[in-house]
Amino acid sequence: MHRQLTERRLILASHNSGKLVEMRELMHPYGVEIVSASELGLPEPDETGLTFKENAEIKALASATSAGLPALSDDSGLCVDALGGDPGIYSARWAGDTKDFGAAMRKIEDLLQQAGAKTPQQRKAHFVSALTLAWPDGHCETFEGMVYGSIVSPPRGNLGFGYDACFLPDEHSRSFGEMTSHEKHGLPRDGGQGLSHRARAFQMLEKACLTGLK
Ligand code: IMP
Repeated sequence: MHRQLTERRLILASHNSGKLVEMRELMHPYGVEIVSASELGLPEPDETGLTFKENAEIKALASATSAGLPALSDDSGLCVDALGGDPGIYSARWAGDTKDFGAAMRKIEDLLQQAGAKTPQQRKAHFVSALTLAWPDGHCETFEGMVYGSIVSPPRGNLGFGYDACFLPDEHSRSFGEMTSHEKHGLPRDGGQGLSHRARAFQMLEKACLTGLK
């Protein structure tokens, strides 16, 4: 049995503005007030986990226990097959303190060139999102979503955030950087079946924990 969210106020345990925008959009139909950890001045815990799930739980639990409210977190990243899954859980770190994702995408491209990866098949990658809903008593519900595709160079489009511009999802002709956020989520409410890693994880969370809110 999954625990249901019944509270109408939720903390978003994230300091990443791109993710905040997306999570607010995803939660919008539920009429839940979302306050971000940065707006509440909550500290950012060290992400010491070795998996997306561990890091998502560290972040959600830190916010839920310090604020006394349920908290939702997302730990996500881009895994490139030819780079042994890098940057993976270190996706944010590859952009450095200045959050320079142009530089991080160039680094991926340089490494792919060194590896001789030229065809889409050799440049396969996937995004992962682990979403955790945590309660102040320490209970966690975690769901993981993925989307498969390939790395394109040069990056395409200036919509979205992070690594969106270098990721072409399978069976699509536009990168995430060329899609509106509605297209990128591809949710049933917009006529899709769920496209982005975050939207796919959110659909699992919805089914398991949000049915009581409707
Ligand atoms: P963290 O989960 O906050 O540790 O960082 C994940 C990093 O992966 C972020 O800094 C993003 O730039 C990148 N990332 C995660 N999800 C997406 C996405 O949907 N599009 C582009 N980049 C993403």
